[in-house]
Amino acid sequence: MKFDFQLPTKIVFGYGTLKQMGKHIPSHIQRILIVTDPMSYERSGAKKIIEAQLRSYHVTVFDQVEENPSFHTIDKGSVMARDQKVQLIIGVGGGSPMDAAKAIAVGCHNQKPLMDYIQGLKLEERTVPVICIPTTAGTGSEVTSYAVITDKVNGKKLCLASPEIYPVCSIIDPQLTLSMPEDVCINTAMDVFTHAMEAYLSTLSFPLVDRLALEAMNLVLENMQGAIKKNKDAITKMSYASMLAGICISQTSTILLHIMAYPLSVFHHIPHGRANAILMPAFLDFMKQRSTVPDKMENIEEFLKPHGSAKNFVNDLGISTQLTTYGVHPENFEDYAKETIVKDDIGITPADVRIADIVAIYENSC
Ligand code: NAP
Ligand code: ZN
Repeated sequence: MKFDFQLPTKIVFGYGTLKQMGKHIPSHIQRILIVTDPMSYERSGAKKIIEAQLRSYHVTVFDQVEENPSFHTIDKGSVMARDQKVQLIIGVGGGSPMDAAKAIAVGCHNQKPLMDYIQGLKLEERTVPVICIPTTAGTGSEVTSYAVITDKVNGKKLCLASPEIYPVCSIIDPQLTLSMPEDVCINTAMDVFTHAMEAYLSTLSFPLVDRLALEAMNLVLENMQGAIKKNKDAITKMSYASMLAGICISQTSTILLHIMAYPLSVFHHIPHGRANAILMPAFLDFMKQRSTVPDKMENIEEFLKPHGSAKNFVNDLGISTQLTTYGVHPENFEDYAKETIVKDDIGITPADVRIADIVAIYENSC
């Protein structure tokens, strides 16, 4: 067995821990940028708790991060961070504001355009340090070295990936997720489940990741209904599962399912976690027939058995698995498949994947 395991982020986890945030800000810091979204900063209760601890700092708030943040948003935030000479960025919200915070930390600090780093230019210097504070239990962005940015002009979701963008600290306070509406709770939980499942299947996985991924999948299945009902223990376990699944994908990345879901968010505005959930049953059917990891596929099937099937599990959550109900038309599938097949994550999917297979998975999701 051989592996490299890297996780430089300090994790502070627990209900009510946001009140301790001030303790985790290094003593030399004076100028802070908060990167967040228009509504949930306040709705989650984070604003009140954070601002009470930052009275003695120079704080600027950039609260214009939309779902699936664009390059334009990152540029605006980067200009603000540079103008204000910020020494620390705090990303508060779901994956969108946390990813935006990580990308702004690169954009405000480095000379080259962000796209150069996305296309593989190595980040030579550490960025401005970032603290992440999740208000959804979904993306795990608080513990990953990724920031997903949407190129709205060319209709692509692109991933900035570098060890330099791991947050220095993440404060995971499940209390902040209580205000999630039911649909956001379900969509983000499905993101957790698919992260864990894809990390488990990835050819880059190793036994440590396998254990964490199985634990994360199990926690989602056991606690999802409780989290919808806002049970405190269940929402705490969902935040924990999200963190575990984030740690898993930080080591392995996601695989075919996630890259197939990207066009559904970019062109049809289907929320990220829901897009993965819609395609999951057909993806699993494909993997059952064609994957090189039959034992792992059996374990996933066993997990889902109490729900009847993957399709029943997803449908029982009120998620339609018919792409046509979201206005996605079969004539687009070939284009989406061509877009998907060139992504690096195809190479870590444990199956020989062709364009026709991708088209078939989309078709079987209709
Ligand atoms: P999100 O896009 O951050 O937020 C979705 C919605 O949830 C927003 O409308 C937001 O409201 C609302 N919301 C968030 N927290 C809330 C709360 N506590 N109470 C009430 N409403 C709340 O959703 P997400 O699924 O967490 O993030 C998705 C993004 O993360 C995608 O761009 C995806 O590609 C990316 N992602 C990144 C990674 C990574 O490793 N970096 C991994 C997976 C996914 P308002 O906007 O109204 O405030
Ligand atoms: Zn995801």
